[in-house]
Amino acid sequence: MRIFILIGLAFSGLLAFGQQKQVCFTFDDLPIVSYGIKDTVYQKKLVEKLVSSLNENKVPAIGFVNEGGLYVNDTIDLFKIRLLKTWANAGLDLGNHTFSHPDYNSTSFKEYSLDILKGETITKEILKKQGKPLTYFRHPFLHAGNSKLKADSLTEFLVSRGYKVAPVTIDNDDYLFALAYKRSSDKKDTRLKLQIGRDYVDYMERKLTYYENQANRLFGRPINQILLLHASSLNSDFTESLISMFKKNNYTFINMNKAIEDPVFKTNITVYGKWGISWLDRWALSQGKKGDFFKDEPTTPDYIVNLAK
Ligand SMILES: [Zn+2]
Repeated sequence: MRIFILIGLAFSGLLAFGQQKQVCFTFDDLPIVSYGIKDTVYQKKLVEKLVSSLNENKVPAIGFVNEGGLYVNDTIDLFKIRLLKTWANAGLDLGNHTFSHPDYNSTSFKEYSLDILKGETITKEILKKQGKPLTYFRHPFLHAGNSKLKADSLTEFLVSRGYKVAPVTIDNDDYLFALAYKRSSDKKDTRLKLQIGRDYVDYMERKLTYYENQANRLFGRPINQILLLHASSLNSDFTESLISMFKKNNYTFINMNKAIEDPVFKTNITVYGKWGISWLDRWALSQGKKGDFFKDEPTTPDYIVNLAK
């Protein structure tokens, strides 16, 4: 009897080890990517649907805030603050994504670091009420410094302020799909919207497979994946489908603290460029991988690129 239990345990352990994979969902550009739609009913619905998709599926996501988006003509917009609180009150985490979303490739370290400080005030307060510290920083455009000097100055600054960097492993063009989705919404083309949504989830699944393979090729095992998304209408409507797609691929959902426990995130990055790429790509380039290593990366469909123009 005992031996059967042992075999059973070993087998289930093997299954869990071999198949169970983990992902952290992250959303940039909070409070909202609205493409200029000022209608507060629309904005409220967008955020509530996004947050409830995450909550109902127990996905412990993190949203990265541009506090510049909480002001209208230098005055705090209480409605936008409520949008942020919707995230925090649902138990989701928040991080700093700078105040005004500057591009570190074309901004001095001094200016950039001031923008980070300016961008932490309100988020810190909101998190404090939840008994949480503000811990994570996400670089706009994933631009982390195009020279060793610039990258190191920023890393040192972030450490001194108690920040941890929130890396991205599954980089993608969700913003292009989101823009195409918005354009089809403007045209009231429901069929096109649905097609974009379906193609989006399919594209994300191909991206997931691609980055899983890249992780296996670099590290010989599955790693904790970190997915980059934006707080757009597309993701409000399709986060539920994305979650199902990840579940189908044997994923469970973890928060950022848990995600970066994977020792893979201590891998050295020794190359610098203007790029805003996945950390997997940075590690691959640092290991001297060239063109061919990246050849299977899925591309965004032409019709999406054209609609997003
Ligand atoms: Zn951003």
